[in-house]
Amino acid sequence: MTDTDVTRSPARLLAELTLEEKAALLDGSDFWHTEPVERLGVPALMVTDGPHGLRKQAEGDDHLGLTNSVPATCFPPAAGLASSWDVDLLHRVGQALGRETRAEGVAVLLGPGVNMKRSPLCGRNFEYFSEDPVLAGDLAAALVQGVQSQGVGTSLKHFAANNQETQRMTVSADVDERTLREVYLTAFERVVRTAQPWTVMCSYNRINGVYASEDPWLLTDVLRGEWGFSGLVVSDWGAVNVREDGVRAGLDLEMPSSSGAGTQRILEAVSTGSLTTEDLDRAVLRVLELVEKARPALADPGTVDVDAHHALAREAARASAVLLKNEDRVLPLTATGGTIAVVGEFARTPRYQGAGSSQVNPTRLDDALTALRAQFDGSREVTFAAGYVPEADPDDAAGEGARALVAEAVEQAAAADVVVLFLGLPASYESEGYDREHTNLPPEQLDLLQAVVAANPRTVVVLANGSVVNLEPWQHSVPAVLEGWLGGQAGGGAVADLLSGVANPSGKLAETIPVHYRDNPTVGNFPGEHGHVRYGEGLLIGYRWYDAHSLPVAAAFGHGLSYTTFGYSDLRVEPGAAGGVDVHVTVTNTGEVAGAEVVQVYVADLDATVFRPDAELKGFARVHLEPGQAQEVSIALDERAFSFWHSATGRWVVEGGEFGVRVGASSRDVRLASTVTLAGDGVSVPLQVDSELDVWLAHPSAGPLVRERLEDTPWAGMVFDPQHGAMMRAIPLVRLTRFPGFPIAEHDLPGLIPG
Ligand code: BGC
Repeated sequence: MTDTDVTRSPARLLAELTLEEKAALLDGSDFWHTEPVERLGVPALMVTDGPHGLRKQAEGDDHLGLTNSVPATCFPPAAGLASSWDVDLLHRVGQALGRETRAEGVAVLLGPGVNMKRSPLCGRNFEYFSEDPVLAGDLAAALVQGVQSQGVGTSLKHFAANNQETQRMTVSADVDERTLREVYLTAFERVVRTAQPWTVMCSYNRINGVYASEDPWLLTDVLRGEWGFSGLVVSDWGAVNVREDGVRAGLDLEMPSSSGAGTQRILEAVSTGSLTTEDLDRAVLRVLELVEKARPALADPGTVDVDAHHALAREAARASAVLLKNEDRVLPLTATGGTIAVVGEFARTPRYQGAGSSQVNPTRLDDALTALRAQFDGSREVTFAAGYVPEADPDDAAGEGARALVAEAVEQAAAADVVVLFLGLPASYESEGYDREHTNLPPEQLDLLQAVVAANPRTVVVLANGSVVNLEPWQHSVPAVLEGWLGGQAGGGAVADLLSGVANPSGKLAETIPVHYRDNPTVGNFPGEHGHVRYGEGLLIGYRWYDAHSLPVAAAFGHGLSYTTFGYSDLRVEPGAAGGVDVHVTVTNTGEVAGAEVVQVYVADLDATVFRPDAELKGFARVHLEPGQAQEVSIALDERAFSFWHSATGRWVVEGGEFGVRVGASSRDVRLASTVTLAGDGVSVPLQVDSELDVWLAHPSAGPLVRERLEDTPWAGMVFDPQHGAMMRAIPLVRLTRFPGFPIAEHDLPGLIPG
């Protein structure tokens, strides 16, 4: 047996490495591999995208999805998966992704991405889950657990505040800490705490001026110190700015290979003492630990059942689609009847995933037209007209060819019993690398829609898009809309299942669809200018904003219809474990077909002394029910569900008082509500000598002392006067002490502040 046959522990390997080997280990060896140390038996690990399928490049290297990759199952991207609100499904999809990753000898799948959908225009929204951090975090945690159950790792990305593609490699997200904590870091935190991803990928952008790739607060204090992350931090591809600053801050591995530049900088920094050996060793150890974790799976790749994964992709796509509207029960299409006119090129040539680094080469590809024809084979005639060319040249879009396509569609629509019109965004409309300019469907599709509806008002629209589109101009003219998102390789079959009633829609929106783009909170603050983007809307992302402003929406966060109906009853809100609250509610399938409902729990802080959004999603559960079946659903809310980030003390705080617990089928469809009173943490804003008198009086220990000193003096009358007292109490106490005759002296104040 040679020395290299023995697997040494990471700590022992570290002790045997030369300085040069250590520095080299912190850099990739090419686009997708880490650096091996052959003399010690340390293999190069392969890491590849991600997130909704494996993109292992067959030849050539690029991180933009330009060259081909080995076939892999293309599941629906996160925009779709998130609409399932189904943690069990996400776990199973994760397992399948893990099996495929392992079978290809890949150690880490680069995903999931849990950045918040701050603006509907973000080009990469199709790859992200939600505008809500609890939903995104819980679904992503299930996916991570599923992948990692197969002995391979994940890379939770892009950490953090990477919410746009414009200037994505340099822009500074200027955002206050409370907003960061409550909105932009929460999904990452939930995944780290519950699923411990093997790696976290730092983002390209800066946060308040500091590159995420060299931010010690983000990469070390928060990620490791507060959340307990024990894995490795890898750079997004090309995110490194000053390499040694990154190592010091907690960025362990630079990817892809910097062609030696990073290694050289690290060696120089060590030689000048600007990087300590401890900093270097800490990062190297994490690379060695990652290698150690990956070894068993690499030695035993296992096999993949391609058919089973395709079936799972179809199940996932079914669960992802959201039935936004269904008047007059136009859906499901009945098994027998007149002609169904399928219109729209996307029925034949599906748009099923987004462009960029996540682009997967699918093992097969279903289209809805073939699937619908199979579904209605012999029972209903299914005709087809393309209607439009997806990436039409603007000059041709209104030309003779386009008019002929519309005329053909109109003719078929007029002759049919019902029309199923497939519309959506062409690939160039949304992609990694750039943001959208608007949310509209292409004009030629809107023209087609108008003409088809005029010919046959029984028109069902099926959408294919990764980020929300403007429904307002046309949704009132059609009886039904099914949002299919980007359905992955089996999306076509899934849509046929849903339209025909073989499956019952159960998806719920993971993001609000505004009436107009201009209603969105980021308007004016997206994508920023001169290298900065202000998160001026603060906490009011998505539905939090539309609710705060009582704005009508085209479709609410959490909304999604079914072919059945559900009743809610018997809400009970009880004390739970560790200061939390347990919510119990009974859900009954009151319709005629089996279906799944997603019970959503929103919490409102009714006695807050700080600004808080009206109500925020804090828990959810999906339940499948046969017709007439009732089931009690229990959702546990932990203390965090009631807390806010207390900027003055730098911690999470639950304020004592009453909280509303609202249970329903969307953020705007609350079915039952209750309240719960919590004692709270008793944390108050730390007193300063220049705190306002009101703040002093509200303080649990200093308040009574100040009150006592004021009593029986002429000041008591002024300070507590019902009409004018508020004016007086708004004055900093230290200033009041200088007014003639005030009963407390300035030098007394420090003694009144509790230590
Ligand atoms: C993307 C990452 C991706 C990486 C590798 C980057 O451009 O932002 O999400 O994992 O490339 O392809």
